[in-house]
Amino acid sequence: MSEASGPTALVLGVGGQDGVYLARHLLTLGYRVVGTVREDALDGDRAAYLSGVELRELDVRDRAGFAAILDTVRPDEVYNLAGFTSVGASWGQAELVAETNGMAVLRILEELVAHQDRHGSAPRYFQPSSSEMFGISDQQPQTEGTPHHPRSPYAVTKSFAHHLTVNYRESYGLFTCTGTLYNHESPLRPQQFVTRKITQAVAEIALGRREQVSLGNLDVRRDWGSAADYARSMHLMLQQDEPADFIVATGVSRALSDVLALAFLAVGIDDPTPYVVQDPALMRPAEVVDLAGDPTKAREQLGWEPAYDFETVVDHMVRVDMRRLETGVEE
Ligand code: GDP
Repeated sequence: MSEASGPTALVLGVGGQDGVYLARHLLTLGYRVVGTVREDALDGDRAAYLSGVELRELDVRDRAGFAAILDTVRPDEVYNLAGFTSVGASWGQAELVAETNGMAVLRILEELVAHQDRHGSAPRYFQPSSSEMFGISDQQPQTEGTPHHPRSPYAVTKSFAHHLTVNYRESYGLFTCTGTLYNHESPLRPQQFVTRKITQAVAEIALGRREQVSLGNLDVRRDWGSAADYARSMHLMLQQDEPADFIVATGVSRALSDVLALAFLAVGIDDPTPYVVQDPALMRPAEVVDLAGDPTKAREQLGWEPAYDFETVVDHMVRVDMRRLETGVEE
């Protein structure tokens, strides 16, 4: 059992990038943190980041399993970071994505209502929404009021869960918040995401272990930020007097080609061109061309500011990947 005397947080999907950053942040704030992982989903390296977290096994689609954890843990706050996160992979697995990102959220919200009926109150709930919900947008940067035009199965399911979370707040008075998170990166990002794919490849190239990296569309633009900063915003949202919806972004969009240049610059290579192959197979069936979020509301109401600029994040990711390669320790 943890010695913490503060509030209790339940972090669903604590083994992922955001789960790790959030759990560690909450521990420093004195929380008791209970985190769920899927069966066999947590390897030893990743578990090392979670010392101090009480781990439970849960597939987030399992309503009865979630209800049992809710009843025994009796958390003050629930953060749902257990989703399917890869846009690119979502085309091939749409049904699984809908179950995990959509129906699972419906079941969680239903259980929170049931809990409220039984006990008079329910834990506060954070839902991570995604900038991908905006897809093609007439508005740049996007705000909390920008309409959704999702462009992938992933984005459709996130939009469904976003609206449900708002609706359960309005229908049942639950304290639910959505944070529409723009792309956020760290050395814990899996390599199916383009930033980490690039930093890993650059580290290998710098160490002479590889010659080139294949990439898709380099003209796409995203508002990239730091996972550590974005995890802090989730906690801040649940501390407000009233639940609300927030955009979490830096406000700056940059081209993927610029990110590529930053990563190569971190190892002293000025021109990435000889090291990059364009592969049409990595182009998406429907692309999101450019997104940037307006974080004014988060800044003004939450007092949230990013602590890291993206140059620093990319530089750090390349350095960590080089160290992993040199020491043979994966994470
Ligand atoms: P997403 O924004 O959540 O889909 O995050 P990703 O990191 O997977 O992709 C960001 C952007 O990079 C998308 O517009 C992709 O089309 C583009 N991209 C270009 N090449 C690649 C690649 O090799 N892998 C991935 N994952 N994305 C790529």
